[in-house]
Amino acid sequence: MIGQRDTVNGAHFGFTDRWGGVSAVPYEELNLGGAVGDDPGAVTANRELAAKSLGIGPDRVVWMNQVHGADVAVVDGPWGDAPVPRVDAVVTAERGLALAVLTADCVPVLLADPVAGVAAAAHAGRPGLVAGIVPAAVRAMAELGADPARIVARTGPAVCGRCYEVPEEMRAEVFAVEPAAYAETSWGTPAVDVAAGVHAQLDRLGVGDGQRSPVCTRGSGDHFSYRRDRTTGRLAGYVWLD
Ligand SMILES: [Zn+2]
Repeated sequence: MIGQRDTVNGAHFGFTDRWGGVSAVPYEELNLGGAVGDDPGAVTANRELAAKSLGIGPDRVVWMNQVHGADVAVVDGPWGDAPVPRVDAVVTAERGLALAVLTADCVPVLLADPVAGVAAAAHAGRPGLVAGIVPAAVRAMAELGADPARIVARTGPAVCGRCYEVPEEMRAEVFAVEPAAYAETSWGTPAVDVAAGVHAQLDRLGVGDGQRSPVCTRGSGDHFSYRRDRTTGRLAGYVWLD
């Protein structure tokens, strides 16, 4: 259910694994993504189960329509009947409001400044790393009063640099923007380490406390991996402040 969680000064961070939900194969069990072909009723039930496990209200979670871009939305509550915007980060100054990001190999990025009471969730795949979605989220947090030095950052389970094979040109394109993401697969071909790139960006922004999940989704049977399985579920990362 909740594979990893921690709390720092009233800022809560949680990442799901694939177990403890009601979805059938190939989304078994805890698929939290609503746009991957799973039964919508199962996704709703899974979102309720995950929220209960985290101790938050399922109606107090803000989801995104993620598109691998660099747009950020500032939110003060769930979307309700409004269309869910196409953004890859959400930021809030509303305590008790949870922000959620969906992934299956991309890097889920959770950020919080517990003193300012500002949180953000971001979806950083390779395009988002290059487009700068994480710096954009940190800037949006700063506009709401966050201080990067106080921001606590957690990145969740994602495909690792030893597994994420890309064409040589693609590795060069990412390297030009973020050298820290340069990687090689365990079988000796060009690769990208998106999480390493995200943490390099966070370091340059002066983010004080950053921790990376040790879990590689592609190599873990307890996590959904798009690159491994193609048709599969989505994991979620949740952040909120007391
Ligand atoms: Zn790996």
